[in-house]
Amino acid sequence: MNYNPQSKVAEEFISHEEILATMEYAAANRDNRELIESLIERASDCKGLTHREASVLLECTLPDLNERMFRLAREIKQKVYGNRIVMFAPLYLSNYCVNSCTYCPYHIANKTIPRKKLTQEEIVREVIALQDMGHKRLALEAGEDPLHNPIEYILESIKTIYSVKHRNGAIRRVNVNIAATTVENYRKLKDAGIGTYILFQETYNRERYERLHPRGPKSNYAWHTEAMDRAMEGGIDDVGIGVLFGLEGYRYDFAGLLMHAEHLEAAFGVGPHTISVPRICPADDIDVADFKDAVPDEIFHKMVAIIRIAVPYTGMIISTRESKSSREKVLRLGVSQISGGSHTGVGGYVDGEEEQNERTAQFDVSDRRTLDEIVAWLLQLGYVPSFCTACYREGRTGDRFMSLAKTGQIANCCQPNALMTLKEYLMDYASPETLRLGLKVIAREMESIPHPKVRRIAEENLVRIENGGRDFRF
Ligand code: SF4
Ligand code: SF4
Repeated sequence: MNYNPQSKVAEEFISHEEILATMEYAAANRDNRELIESLIERASDCKGLTHREASVLLECTLPDLNERMFRLAREIKQKVYGNRIVMFAPLYLSNYCVNSCTYCPYHIANKTIPRKKLTQEEIVREVIALQDMGHKRLALEAGEDPLHNPIEYILESIKTIYSVKHRNGAIRRVNVNIAATTVENYRKLKDAGIGTYILFQETYNRERYERLHPRGPKSNYAWHTEAMDRAMEGGIDDVGIGVLFGLEGYRYDFAGLLMHAEHLEAAFGVGPHTISVPRICPADDIDVADFKDAVPDEIFHKMVAIIRIAVPYTGMIISTRESKSSREKVLRLGVSQISGGSHTGVGGYVDGEEEQNERTAQFDVSDRRTLDEIVAWLLQLGYVPSFCTACYREGRTGDRFMSLAKTGQIANCCQPNALMTLKEYLMDYASPETLRLGLKVIAREMESIPHPKVRRIAEENLVRIENGGRDFRF
């Protein structure tokens, strides 16, 4: 077998043979009570699990042990993230794309979708609309098209976004989800001040990958799979990985996803900053019935729980593809970031629900609530919606961030930052009902700031925010 997590060669760190052997091992130990109990026990100290161990948990059909796994996931979530949920919004810059991904309506052969690329003036208008909702953290999305969306366009757009200051609004962190590119371009993105570089693998199964991506630059499996290595070489040390569950059997991609995380840790000393867990869903020109591997809720929720157990310090992201009830479930089990009030069409925040805009959307949004409704809902569930972007602005990225997270010291930053940014949101954007709920939650959650001095400074800052001060952070 050619498996080597430290190798920079895709086929060696995502070894097909190792994934097959993992699935076989997991099936052979399906209900091996002794082994599963020992894994749950060991994982309870937040040291994580390997892809093989996590795959054994995924196979388990014993109800009492599955319940223990869910309980452990909830405990780890609470210990590492408290009640905080980080909020963000996607911003679609352009749906021009030269690739041929069979599951995405932006594929080059789709002639029914209107193509659109935002001008810098349109970006300013979108950003103002996002700021007026209260967003501080964006995920930029663009198709791959060297002619329409060259790296210069992306860099210019990032500059534009950071430059917009409308009332008390500001976008303080721009994460970027664009196609795999060169080390040189990653360096340019880093210099432009991006937060996380996000790229979904879609599926780790090379054969399936090549069938789903028949043409275009993305058809090169190795180029795509080794993208995070190049991003790290280009100086981006916060990277976000993910698969599109449903393109391949979930067991395969679940193991591949964790192997990718292990590879980044082995090769660069820092695992992924985030893992996204999208599922295939309906869109223009795309019918989910064509995807026989679509993942049912029960399995999906279990995967979220086990990812939480396997990589406790890696943020987990869910989008508005998921319904309200599914989101509610996975928030308890491990998801730490959600989007709110999202539009997945180009120009969606200004044009709203206009038909034209809906037709440029990448996927159907299942959760259509406004950001204020999502914030109120989270508060009612006992969460603290956080608009914090402090870490990368304070230079806490990569292994600096991870070592703080692993020692638990990050709680002295996350909790006060969450409460201060929530207070900003409440002052500037919330409806009266959300404001009422939010102030109650802040009063309660101040108690859980571990360090007394930090708590005192946070209290003073909350008063300053009430008096018009903004952008305090630890
Ligand atoms: Fe293009 Fe990305 Fe859609 Fe593929 S998934 S067609 S690369 S926008
Ligand atoms: Fe994220 Fe850092 Fe803010 Fe915590 S302090 S919520 S880790 S940006």
